[in-house]
Amino acid sequence: MGPEKRTGGPPDRAVTAVHEAGHAVIAHLLGHAVIRASLDGVRTRYRHGDLYAYLCEAAIALAGPLAEQHYRPTTKAERRELSREFWHTDLDHARQHIAACGIDRRWLTRQVRVLVRALVREHWPTIERVAAALEQHGTLSGGEIDQLIA
Ligand SMILES: [Zn+2]
Repeated sequence: MGPEKRTGGPPDRAVTAVHEAGHAVIAHLLGHAVIRASLDGVRTRYRHGDLYAYLCEAAIALAGPLAEQHYRPTTKAERRELSREFWHTDLDHARQHIAACGIDRRWLTRQVRVLVRALVREHWPTIERVAAALEQHGTLSGGEIDQLIA
């Protein structure tokens, strides 16, 4: 999901940890193998070529920005700014995988966002736990993430 470069000053470690924990926890929940998570990004593995995998990839990509939004409410103007400065890699990734599904993109994007928001809300304690560990250690292995989520 790419490093979230924060050009306007030093990166906020807590926000970055929540963002990457969002990717990692939602990936785990959707059955994607989490190979490694760090404050620079999350590596996962999935099968290419099936619609479910594309939907999951889109959901996992959106989970970082949506975890951030759950952690720290933002105005529409702030979200526009964050989308341009920090979230564009995730949003592009989500767009590409939603386009690959071959279903009405606007509709599908809305559905995926609703799903991810619900998952983030429901699993917020887990995301906070993974974020705290990421903030402390910087990097977590797939096994360590499995243990934190279990
Ligand atoms: Zn991200």
